[in-house]
Amino acid sequence: MTYAVLSLRGATKRFGGLVAVNNIDFDVRPGQVLGLIGPNGSGKSTTLNLISGALQPTTGEISLHGAAITNLRADKIAKRGISRTFQLVRLLPSMTVEQNIIAGAVFGHRRRWGAVAASEAAQLAERVGLGGKTHMNIEQLTYIDTKRVELARALASDPKVLLLDEWLAGLNPTELQVGIELIQSLRDEGRTIILVEHVMDAIRSLCDYCVVMSSGAKIAEGTPQDVLSNPEVIRAYLGDDNA
Ligand code: ADP
Ligand code: MG
Repeated sequence: MTYAVLSLRGATKRFGGLVAVNNIDFDVRPGQVLGLIGPNGSGKSTTLNLISGALQPTTGEISLHGAAITNLRADKIAKRGISRTFQLVRLLPSMTVEQNIIAGAVFGHRRRWGAVAASEAAQLAERVGLGGKTHMNIEQLTYIDTKRVELARALASDPKVLLLDEWLAGLNPTELQVGIELIQSLRDEGRTIILVEHVMDAIRSLCDYCVVMSSGAKIAEGTPQDVLSNPEVIRAYLGDDNA
């Protein structure tokens, strides 16, 4: 059994009477791209929020390289090496692309400053397809470019685990292909990634392993091929009005 980079054990989040995440267990292995999938409202974003420390679990344990991070604040968890993008892009709107990317390097796991940070920001911008746009303001960017900035910012800290929350959502078919190739390139450099995603082509081509949630609970796990042909998983998706 390969060592787990990240483990969830009994992770549970209640919002009043609603159990948004119900007793979830899973492990993420080094270099794995784990797809966290399920219909809308099944608890995927809340699970990422528990991992990144945006929310504290009601009960359960989360560990990174065997050390508990369960009740650490989000900034402490970022310093330990977990970076994320948000389902709804969150950037510093009055700042430039470069400043936004550098913010990731300053607050993250591997801190960098000044000229080193700027030169790395330029490289990361190039990497995510924002070459030549580092001095643009966020307001001037197209939607896909704001997503690229968020990804570059998350990568700026050289995270041990990258959490992507529907990073491909809202892209047109051409952009989607570019986006899939970009995530593929991160995967090829051995990054450990949790991918929350609805785009089935992306799940099939990018994920080594999937965990499927429905109504807060884990209902299946396995290879994309296995889970996507699992009748219970198909039923969960078809039962979703928004699917
Ligand atoms: P998904 O990302 O799978 O679409 P979410 O994790 O966003 O699902 O939401 C799971 C459930 O938790 C939903 O019913 C949602 O309305 C609820 N929820 C999410 N965040 C909050 C919150 N901060 N307060 C109350 N309810 C929430
Ligand atoms: Mg979500």
